[in-house]
Amino acid sequence: MTRIPEPFRIKMVERIRQTTREDRIAALEAAGHNLFLLRAEDVYIDLLTDSGTGAMSDAQWAAMMTGDEAYAGSRSFYRLQDAVADLFGYPHVVPTHQGRGAEQILFPVLVARVRDRAGRPAAGAADIRPVFLSNHHFDTTAAHVEIAGGRAVDVLTPDAYDTARPHDWKGNFDLVRLAAEIEAAGPGNVAGLIITITCNSAGGQPVAMDNIRAAAAMARAHDIPVVIDSARFAENAWFIKQRDPAWRDRSIREIVAAIYAEGDVLTMSAKKDPMVNMGGLCAVRRDLDIFQAVQALCVPMEGFITYGGMSGRDMDALAVGLYEAIDEAFLDYRIAQVAHLGARLLTGGVPIQAPTGGHAVFVDAARLLPHIPADRFPAQALANALYVEAGVRGVEIGSLLLGRDPATGMQKPSRLELLRLTIPRRVYTNDHMDYVADALIRVKARADSLTGLSFVHEPRVLRHFTARLRPDQAEPLRRSA
Ligand SMILES: *Cc1c(COP(=O)(O)O)cnc(C)c1O
Repeated sequence: MTRIPEPFRIKMVERIRQTTREDRIAALEAAGHNLFLLRAEDVYIDLLTDSGTGAMSDAQWAAMMTGDEAYAGSRSFYRLQDAVADLFGYPHVVPTHQGRGAEQILFPVLVARVRDRAGRPAAGAADIRPVFLSNHHFDTTAAHVEIAGGRAVDVLTPDAYDTARPHDWKGNFDLVRLAAEIEAAGPGNVAGLIITITCNSAGGQPVAMDNIRAAAAMARAHDIPVVIDSARFAENAWFIKQRDPAWRDRSIREIVAAIYAEGDVLTMSAKKDPMVNMGGLCAVRRDLDIFQAVQALCVPMEGFITYGGMSGRDMDALAVGLYEAIDEAFLDYRIAQVAHLGARLLTGGVPIQAPTGGHAVFVDAARLLPHIPADRFPAQALANALYVEAGVRGVEIGSLLLGRDPATGMQKPSRLELLRLTIPRRVYTNDHMDYVADALIRVKARADSLTGLSFVHEPRVLRHFTARLRPDQAEPLRRSA
């Protein structure tokens, strides 16, 4: 794919500051070798996440000025509701403060449906733990499934785990395993099928239309609600247009409509494709029982039903951002920028999840650092080295993120050890991508000298955000520098 120039010009700039290597070593030590604990001003290029880090357009900022801050029934809510109904066909809309806000008010409703159907457990009998099946639960999604009393099971295609072998649809469900898991759980115990588009955890990889349809049909046959986890709905639709000849001549908008015709409920982190800094959605196609139960939980957990977790002006920016997300010229550029970074790294001999996905390049740290075992967090070691090298912040997606099995206390085995370089939307130029690639290629040249990490402090839940670590040998970063 060729390098596509930015399809926007820049109206406002924000200064970023490079630091010295000594500054960065000191900052990393103060942060417990956990890049989440750095001050952002100590980062030069921040590829931690594409979540809430996008640049809003002039049209979005203009829409903010028209925000209606009425507590109930604001104009902004109705504009947002109209946009969601127009694009997705889901007219029953609850705004939430972000994606996890939608998860926390939807999953208890779906768990309760299963338990109500099963009736009250006999005295002394264990309560049932309804199952959620997904191509891959995002980390907060899995956490909210567990908080709601459910069990999260991933049934991702094995193609996703072979990072060296390109495949068009590494976000797909393994349909054979999906059928087997539905049988194993008993269809009545499955609280929901969660279709995550694109599949963040597999590398921002797309799910094919055929696969979405087949998985949804299986759920429908068993009366299992289909939830579409929609953070990167537009990027997934773009891949379908590019890679599935049946959709080549359709617009992104038509493809989005076809995807959502397969679902019952959508949850969305609006901080991704729709390019707002904060916000989320839960929307329902036609099941009014689910909608009313979600609304009832929204009030105490998020806020009144016409604002959820959002201010009026933020709902207006989101209503505009949903349409900007499906702009094809933007998507062509956006995904080409990610591919450009990936191509530069591959040329430099850095192993990555191939092909690149929609929002990030995932570097295969297990292949780059085979001498560091999984429980010494090779991708975290690589992330730290890249930060020291160039002030670039990526994020570990591997054993550190996955954590321990709550039942046994053992580290869960992670099939991948990835360093995610996540590209915020409309924020960094292609030149910034070249800078990142050059830095990581330099780190690769001294990969042998990197060492693993051990815990100094290990939180029990979602440990990767606040853990403190120490390198296994004294100051290996300083020595290799
Ligand atoms: C970001 C994300 C979420 C959670 O959304 P937040 O806005 O971070 O709360 C859920 N699912 C997927 C696939 C995501 O990428």
